[in-house]
Amino acid sequence: MTTAPFDYDLIVLGGGSAGLAGAIRAAQYGKRVALLEPGELGGTCVNIGCVPKKAMWLAADLAERIGLAHAMGFDVPARPALSWKELVIHRQAYITNIHKSYHARLDETGVVRIPARGHLLDAHTVACTDGVRYSAQHILIATGAHPQRPDVPGAELGLVSDDFFDLRAAPAEVAIVGGGYIAVELAGLLQALGSRVSLLVRGQRLLDRFDHELTEQLAENLRQQGVRICFEFDLKALQRDGQQVRVVGAQGALDCAFDAVFFATGRRGNSADLGLEALGIGIGEHRQVQVDEWQTTAVPSVHAVGDIAGKVGLTPVAVAASRRLMDRLFGGKPESKMDYETVPSVVFSHPPLGAVGMSEQQARECFDQVTVYHSRFRPMLQALANGTQRSLFKMVCAGPEERVVGIHLLGEAADEILQGFAVAVKMGATKAQFDATVAIHPTSSEEVVLMR
Ligand code: FAD
Repeated sequence: MTTAPFDYDLIVLGGGSAGLAGAIRAAQYGKRVALLEPGELGGTCVNIGCVPKKAMWLAADLAERIGLAHAMGFDVPARPALSWKELVIHRQAYITNIHKSYHARLDETGVVRIPARGHLLDAHTVACTDGVRYSAQHILIATGAHPQRPDVPGAELGLVSDDFFDLRAAPAEVAIVGGGYIAVELAGLLQALGSRVSLLVRGQRLLDRFDHELTEQLAENLRQQGVRICFEFDLKALQRDGQQVRVVGAQGALDCAFDAVFFATGRRGNSADLGLEALGIGIGEHRQVQVDEWQTTAVPSVHAVGDIAGKVGLTPVAVAASRRLMDRLFGGKPESKMDYETVPSVVFSHPPLGAVGMSEQQARECFDQVTVYHSRFRPMLQALANGTQRSLFKMVCAGPEERVVGIHLLGEAADEILQGFAVAVKMGATKAQFDATVAIHPTSSEEVVLMR
């Protein structure tokens, strides 16, 4: 057992969104902090998640807009050719700049970076892979998660989202297994960048936790884009077929062979080999570290934040939870903790889908009186260019005062529109207050204050 004084006030395992935010916040409080990260700084979000994904989504969006420009009379091809390699150079240069800024931030704040993997020996001691041990008053586990492959024969023939970022050209024929946000995002952007995509979904709908009306419209939009969607697909196996892969479901093999098959079938916490079970720290069904509402494990000096804590797997959530924990431990704010209610999120589908608060289905389970407002429309650019995309905005209100408990936006610019309205929902705004707000015309966003 280590006795105080410790080598550090805080040791952080993992230099992703959660770990970096926590390490920097603690150092800003004047604490001595060590950050263990065996890979690139930034973790999943920066290297194999949000950032490179958004770069690809932006490229896909450009491809679609060039098609719309063609339809409106610009002298550009309807389906522009893309040098994927050139795009990757731009993407990686952007990521390199983020790495540089993180290194600079750690240097400025005096966080000691240790390029090693770590595991816990006791409530205050971490051992690195090279055998060196460090002690700290508090240990923060921020080791993230990894994609999970289904347990079917031939699963090793499939790829996961990490592999998507190694592509240097669009595979011609692609199958994506899954119906969650990563599956939907990969489907939309691969289709837009030149692949023919089949989306194989186990359930009856896409994006189960989102409002059903919107996900149905999204499925329709994806079909219009050319994506083939198979619901209730029960994957049985993958089989090699020359250079390609065949996908076998309960009804037999699909009619075509694929150049790439991606699994987007869930993620598991990186909790193996951390030495947690030996300390009596609980590990959940998805390999997440079990924590209380204060992000603390069964061991009072050991905490977990971000994807490893298994609550809401989003970067801003990881960052906020980590900062609030540091405010509580080191910042003299004993009540500081993450509020997991009303977290806005966006699926970067084509078009994007954003939501904050409750879906209609969730609201009906919670409140006796639920009122729902819709706006279905064709965004102006789509209408001008005879495009196929339709927008659907929806507002869910509760109680006689019609408090807005959910806003759901599917359509062009939904990703940019939602943030401001999320503030209103968090503040408890009512439908009457939305009605009293003057619209900005002509925009898609005006539909949110004009819903009837
Ligand atoms: P991570 O970022 O995964 O960081 C964990 C770090 O811990 C890693 O760098 C790892 O090397 C390190 N590590 C692991 N084990 C050890 C150990 N034993 N010792 C030391 N270090 C260790 N979120 C959004 O908000 N918006 C998006 O658009 C979005 N898109 C996404 C797209 C994809 C394809 C994926 C996969 C995820 C996306 N996410 C998105 C989710 C987001 O990336 C995660 O929620 C976020 O990265 C979680 O941060 P984290 O710090 O908890 O974990």
